[in-house]
Amino acid sequence: MLTLKFGGTSVGNADAIAQTVAVIAKTKKQDPSVAVVTSAMSGVTDMLVNSARAAANGQQQPFLDARDALYEKHMQAAQALIEDKKSLEQYERHVEELVRFFARLCGSIHVLGELTPRGLDVVSGLGERLSAPLLAAALQAQGVDATWIDATEIIVTDEQFGEATPIIAPTCERVQARLKPLIAAGVIPIVTGFVGATESGVPTTLGRGGSDFSAAILGACLGADEIQIWTDVNGILTADPRIVPEARTLRQLSYNEAAELAYFGAKVIHPKTMLPAVERKIPIRILNTFHPDGPSTVITSEPQKNGLVKAISAIRNLTLINVEGRGMMGVPGIAARTFRAVADVKANVLMISQASSEQSICFVVPQNRSDLVQQALKHEFERELSLHDIDRIYPVDDVAIIAVVGAGMRGTPGIAGRLFSALGEVHVNVIALAQGSSESNISMVVDRQDLESAVRAIHQAFFQNTRIPTPQLVS
Ligand code: ASP
Ligand code: MG
Repeated sequence: MLTLKFGGTSVGNADAIAQTVAVIAKTKKQDPSVAVVTSAMSGVTDMLVNSARAAANGQQQPFLDARDALYEKHMQAAQALIEDKKSLEQYERHVEELVRFFARLCGSIHVLGELTPRGLDVVSGLGERLSAPLLAAALQAQGVDATWIDATEIIVTDEQFGEATPIIAPTCERVQARLKPLIAAGVIPIVTGFVGATESGVPTTLGRGGSDFSAAILGACLGADEIQIWTDVNGILTADPRIVPEARTLRQLSYNEAAELAYFGAKVIHPKTMLPAVERKIPIRILNTFHPDGPSTVITSEPQKNGLVKAISAIRNLTLINVEGRGMMGVPGIAARTFRAVADVKANVLMISQASSEQSICFVVPQNRSDLVQQALKHEFERELSLHDIDRIYPVDDVAIIAVVGAGMRGTPGIAGRLFSALGEVHVNVIALAQGSSESNISMVVDRQDLESAVRAIHQAFFQNTRIPTPQLVS
């Protein structure tokens, strides 16, 4: 039993859908039990969201234009893929109905001048309801039996619109009742990703990029042997190939390693979306729709120690905030108050470091939150600043975090040494540093200017040096 998920670019136009159809047909020959999850055609979700927001701000033209563009985009692909006149007409009626519904929704949003999270979920989930029947019809046209399923009927969530959490027990009940008989009869269910509904049937969404989550939920409920995420890259690479041309596909990664990489900006898979698979130890494989026989990465529960460092990831556009003062030493509560103030302005803290002298705390936040964070801290510590218990609160802008990830680093001496020699050789200054006690990640703050040469030097030291054991790679 396999669950396959196709991202927006895999259904982005007629050619891409034809590729996707080929992948599904081939998979079914190898394993007849297949369930498919699809995203919206690429760009569609953004178009829906932007139109609804513009409507709430008093603009009608964006949603009127989007209505026409949505019709065109889907029908153009359908005409190229569906030969049978009847099924093409049937799809056209569906598209007409949905784009009309979309325009009516945006019309009401425009009249009300207000967009609620609940309203936005109805609009933003329409893209998958346009793409799933298209993919099903394209499969039928190639003689592969398929039918589309609206996930609002099977994925039950809470009422947190925009970022709903699935409720697994009733979801699995419905998934099994609805999908298993189809699969047993040789029909491939093509399920809309991203969307769900509350117990009482109000549409919700699982958050942007949520189709991966949908696939993990379905895979878990169906007891899949593997969840396959079909995208437009060759799995997960050792580093960003735009920075390191020698970057290679990693054959295997543990759930934890993948989560660390995602956290530090690698375009992997959101840790939350893996959970249903992690709990049941179902492997997640990342593959390329446009290079189906090329290398892929499998994410499993096994923290295989094949090599020390698995991959390097980096995040840009960050600010390091320092809170400094000799009066902080031994005073309890400074850290708690610091991070409460930061949380109050909803800034995400990506890394924290405090030296044992306790004379400073530094942490990293997204640059666009930097001013708010500094204001909040100056307000919180007004008294300490006036008494000079805290001397200063200051930012270092334009920094990046580089994370080196690999469970094999645990208990292996010498990694940090090799890392810093590599950086020293290219004259990169490390501004701050953190290693969690899991030892599967070392993260460093460097100046934005140094990011590329730092990543290249680290990659060279750990992956392009034959004297050092490298992880299992596919070249
Ligand atoms: N279509 C949704 C989005 O763009 C969900 C997904 O692609 O996973 O966020
Ligand atoms: Mg997407």
